[in-house]
This record gives sequence, C-alpha cells and structure tokens, in this order.
Amino acid sequence: MRWLQNHPKTLESMYGSTKWLIKKMGPMFEKIGNEKVDRWFRKPEEWSKQAMFDCQMCGQCVLHSTGMTCPMTCPKNLRNGPCGGVRQNGHCEVKPDMKCIWVEAFERSTQMGTWGADMMMIQPPVNRQLEGSSAWVNMVTGADQDVPTGWIGLNTITVLPKGIDYPTAK
Ligand code: SF4
Repeated sequence: MRWLQNHPKTLESMYGSTKWLIKKMGPMFEKIGNEKVDRWFRKPEEWSKQAMFDCQMCGQCVLHSTGMTCPMTCPKNLRNGPCGGVRQNGHCEVKPDMKCIWVEAFERSTQMGTWGADMMMIQPPVNRQLEGSSAWVNMVTGADQDVPTGWIGLNTITVLPKGIDYPTAK
C-alpha cells in the first residue's frame, strides 16, 4: 500500500474524510470513555497506517503537514525538515540507500491542494508521552495539540515570508 504515498492528493482527501468522521464520533467516544476507545483504535490505526505510511505510532499525527509522509520514519525523527546532511542525490546521510523523507515530503506536499502549504508550519517537539496511543483519539481529545510551555498554537507559526505562496496543486 506504500504506492499510495505517491498519490498525496488522494491521501489528502482520505485524510479529510477520516478527520471529519472521527470528529463526528467525538461525543460517542466521550460517552464510552476515551481510554477504552483508545485501546480499541490502536491496533486498527497501527495496521492501516503502518501499511500505508510505515507509521511509528507517535500518537500525534502530522501527516497532512508533511506531504502525507511520516516524519517519524526519518532516522533522526526530525519533524521540521531535513537535518542538513542530505546527500547530493537527495538521499539520507544515515541510510544512504534511502531517499531523505523530507525530500519526498516536500515533493508530495506540492501535489496537495488543501494542506500542502502546512509544510511551512513549525511543529512543536513530539510528545513522547503519547507514543503508542491512537492519534485519532488524541485528535478528538485535543491531546495532540498540547504543546510545551513557551510554544504557541500550531496554526499560528509559519516560516513562509509574507506575499510568497507555497507551490501547492490547485
Ligand atoms: S506522524 Fe505519528 S501517527 Fe502519523 S503516521 Fe507518523 S508516526 Fe504515525
């Protein structure tokens, strides 16, 4: 199913529908108990996202902001772009046979129409306490939006200079 990653526009619309559906289910999650729902959701989420994205279950999914490419598959787990060790051929300095995931993320983000420009948002450090939990449930509870003291809301930080448009698909 990894081939799907080279169809980021399709994945983006799948992400949009999943997000809509899961948010709709929020009140039901609360009735059942978020911890219980988390236990039910973990495995299906892991299976489906591992098959598609090699998901590492960080519990704080940012796929739509990273060209539908999982940043946790970077050997250094970087969430804000490449490390500076990218080889001239665009491959990783740690795993020379592997294309840098940030090169792929950038290329894919330009094919996305809705969330492509989110690539320019600065992501806070990953919250390791959420590791292994369901990012879908954390999205509903808002746990994935908790940021360390000193950070401001995710949607308010961007590194794109004013007047410059990100080259996303229309
Ligand atoms: S960002 Fe986290 S939850 Fe999303 S695919 Fe990667 S490891 Fe999985």
